[in-house]
Amino acid sequence: MKKTFATLDKLREISAQIPTPFHLYDEKGIEENAERLKAAFSWNRGFREYFAVKATPTPAILKLLKKHGCGADCSSLTELIMSERCGFTGEDIMFSSNDTPDEEFVKAAQLGAIINLDDITHIEVLKNLVGIPKKICCRFNPGGTFEISNRIMDNPGDAKYGMTREQIFEAFRELKSLGAEEFGIHAFLASNMVSNEYYPALASQLFQLAVDIRRATDVKITFINLSGGVGVPYRPEQRPNDIMVIGDGVRRAYEEILSPAGMDDIAIFTEMGRFMLAPYGCLVTKAIREKHIYKEYIGVDASACDLMRPAMYGAYHHITVAGKEDAPTDHIYDVTGNLCENNDKFAIDRALPKVDMGDYLVIHDTGAHGRSMGYNYNGKLRSGEVLLKSDGSFELIRRAEAPDDYFATLVW
Ligand SMILES: *Cc1c(COP(=O)(O)O)cnc(C)c1O
Repeated sequence: MKKTFATLDKLREISAQIPTPFHLYDEKGIEENAERLKAAFSWNRGFREYFAVKATPTPAILKLLKKHGCGADCSSLTELIMSERCGFTGEDIMFSSNDTPDEEFVKAAQLGAIINLDDITHIEVLKNLVGIPKKICCRFNPGGTFEISNRIMDNPGDAKYGMTREQIFEAFRELKSLGAEEFGIHAFLASNMVSNEYYPALASQLFQLAVDIRRATDVKITFINLSGGVGVPYRPEQRPNDIMVIGDGVRRAYEEILSPAGMDDIAIFTEMGRFMLAPYGCLVTKAIREKHIYKEYIGVDASACDLMRPAMYGAYHHITVAGKEDAPTDHIYDVTGNLCENNDKFAIDRALPKVDMGDYLVIHDTGAHGRSMGYNYNGKLRSGEVLLKSDGSFELIRRAEAPDDYFATLVW
């Protein structure tokens, strides 16, 4: 059974000051998880997590992770600016972008961020804009399918990211001739992998590639970036990843492949978003309307503008009716938002306890790619964000949008 991290009493206390809907984050959960990650990779001297800012671009969250040693992984101008304003400097920032506009390369270079090139043609662009930095990273795409134990997990061959194998060898040679001295390899081959085998399998591929590149080009590879993709159990029947097992799996691949090649000074970087934040955030919304037609509907005060994943990918998000955790789930509902768009449903045919108007519905695992993916269709205003502190107090860390925010860009 999936549990919420806030009690009904706490939700009432918060919503007396901050009306629903709001995303609520669990400070204690975030901090403990960040520490577990560090422990899992403590065998690697240079290990660092660069939190994927796009998952939860909220300064209070970024600063909290910074306290635990995380850097920031950015891929847009505003993410770079936000990270800068949160105190991330120089190599605290990884710039892993694609289809990158000039101004973003310029900003990243100004900040002294580590730039991760998505394509071989970006070498020329970067050279002409700001010159080639001493430390640089290239993103790899092996093509084909990505398999673990003969099971197809994803199709890198269909993904727009990264360079082919031949291109990455050529890119490293070219970058070296242009003055680069330290190199990194990056790849993101599958998303939301609820499997302890993903990172070790990816790491094995990248470690072998590093050995091959080093032999062929003699460049100095100083880090390997496993990026994101480590998943979380959105469904109650799923078993969560064990980050200690994952860290140990990567260690074994490191000792099998890199150590014998004399490359055991390579730092491991990660760029996780979902694993760092998803379970430690939820969308708190209230049942405001019910409707009984061909199906049973519960209308809530949030919409897909606050959480797009169900509408966009049909993603499952568990729902708890606060205070009715032990009640029988003997009603079948579609839980909907109020957009004029029939895919605005947080759940379809979901078994829940009987929902009464005014009940708090807690939509689980919205801490990453939740609020940040929101939009403003129908002129709906996106919800704010609240941090539930370890001491039980709470703090508004982003206010809800107001009509003037929506109108701010208009020319009348
Ligand atoms: C989105 C993204 C991440 C984070 O992915 P998660 O699935 O949230 O871990 C990391 N790196 C890059 C380049 C990304 O685009």
